Formats: sequence, structure tokens, C-alpha cells
Amino acid sequence: MVDVPENFSMNPEQLAQMQNQQPNPLSKYLRQPQIYVKLPSAGKYWYPGTLEMPVSGELPVLPMSTRDEIMLNTPDALLNGEAVVTMIQSCIPNIRNAWALPSVDLDTVLIAIRIASYGEKMEYTSTCPECENSDNYEIDLRQFLDMPVNLSGYENAFEYKGVNVSLKPLDYNSVNQQNLEQFEQQRLITMVNDTTIDEATKQARFQEIFKILTEYTVKNVTGSIEKLTTPEGVTVMDQNHIQEFVENSERIFFKTLKDKLTEIKDSFPAKTVHTTCDSCQHEYTTPFTFDQANFFEFAS
Ligand SMILES: [Zn+2]
Repeated sequence: MVDVPENFSMNPEQLAQMQNQQPNPLSKYLRQPQIYVKLPSAGKYWYPGTLEMPVSGELPVLPMSTRDEIMLNTPDALLNGEAVVTMIQSCIPNIRNAWALPSVDLDTVLIAIRIASYGEKMEYTSTCPECENSDNYEIDLRQFLDMPVNLSGYENAFEYKGVNVSLKPLDYNSVNQQNLEQFEQQRLITMVNDTTIDEATKQARFQEIFKILTEYTVKNVTGSIEKLTTPEGVTVMDQNHIQEFVENSERIFFKTLKDKLTEIKDSFPAKTVHTTCDSCQHEYTTPFTFDQANFFEFAS
């Protein structure tokens, strides 16, 4: 059995929605699916009950609602990930709980929602490395869907003292926590450099933030482990057992795991944009990154 973290079960609102079978006479005037999308994970790594996979393996994608757009324009909502989760569940109803979304599916899901809401074309600004001419170009986002992602590296990733370790992509909840971690690190640096705070207060706050950071790190490592198999053939998937193991393992375990995750990530196809400079005709390729904040900003 897969261990389901507490906050991944259905909330009362979702339950009520499922039980309320009254059809809305307005339903045919509501949002309709614009495209259908296949997830790179193909549904693997989702916790039970968090994704309803259609037989076709393709999820219908609705355009963003007015409410989604308003929520996304709230800066605080972006930081805590709540707006992104609400939007994903609103646009892809088959996704019951977007906090459970494996990180390998995130870009695909965001691109699909972007296409369903504003069309396939997206404008981007690029600066030529040859002549430094900055121009606006158009990109077809469909090229980034259906990119083959090889997930085999996660399975039986490495051995530690005879224990076989299988990894998995982080869920969106942990990805969001990583963002918060970076925020905490920033806070730490700002505080250390603040000359108006006395040493004793600095020490106390440093301890407090450091404790939070350590907790995040342990959670992220634990969240990257799918299962552990002992030489005796016992498979461990219980999150609490895995966490206890992580907290008490040697430094080399942590390092091997980090290196392996980087190696798997590097094997994924890179999203790049090919540009021909309007001014000097120089052809160059730049990496294309999906930042949730500016990804939707382009649309307005
Ligand atoms: Zn140029």
C-alpha cells in the first residue's frame, strides 16, 4: 500500500461536489475543454485519489476562469502556491489534488493551461549574443508538449549498505516548500547583514531559521524516496519509517541521493528556443524556463 500523506485526501467541498448530482442548466455555456494533454508521468507517482486518469490517458484542459486569473494576479497567493493549485484543479478537473502533482508533470500542465487559455503562440523577448539587438519573437508552445521524459532512472536508483533505494519526483507540495526554503535563506542573509539587530537576538533568530531549514531539507530528501528495499527483501514505503532512516543515515547517503537526482534531471530533454536575430540574422539557442509568475504575465 502507498502511504497517503494527510492533506492529500478529499476535502469536504470536493465530497459535496461529488454528491451533488443536480445538472446545471447553464453547463453547456460553461468552459469547454480546448485541448487534451498526456502527462509525462502517465499517472505514476500520483497518490491514490489525487488523479482521475481517463482510459485514453489524455486529460481535458479547460481555459482559465475569471476567478483563476484574479487569483493569479495576487502576489502572495503565488508565493504560497495556493493560487497555482486552485488554477490547476479548476482547469484540469481530472486532477483532484494538485499538491500531489509530481514535478515532472508541472511544466506540461502549465503549458497546457496556457495554450487552452490564450492559444498556442506566446511572445518572448530575446537578446542576440552577437549584436545585442533585443527583439520580440513568437514561439509555438505545442513543441514543449509530448516531450519524452525517461523516468527509468528513479527506479532502483542506488544502493546504500545493501538497501536498494528507489526515488521519485517531488510532489508540488514539496516543490512549493523548496521555494519557501529559498525565501527563508534570503531572510537569513538579510538578518545577518542587519546592523540594527543585536547579537543575542541574531543568535536566537538564526537558530530558529536554521531549524526550519533543516526540517525542509529532511522533508525534501524523504519526499524524493519512493521506497527502500532491504537485503532481506522487505519493502518500506511508510513515510515515517523513511524519515527516521534519512535523519539517521550518514552524510554519504544524502550526497549520493542528491547527485542521483541531479543526474536524472539532466537526462530530461531541455526546453530550448531557437531564434534567428532580426537584425544580424545570427542563429542562436537559449534555454526556455517556465516561471509561474512571468509565464502568465505574458498573457495579459
Ligand atoms: Zn543579432
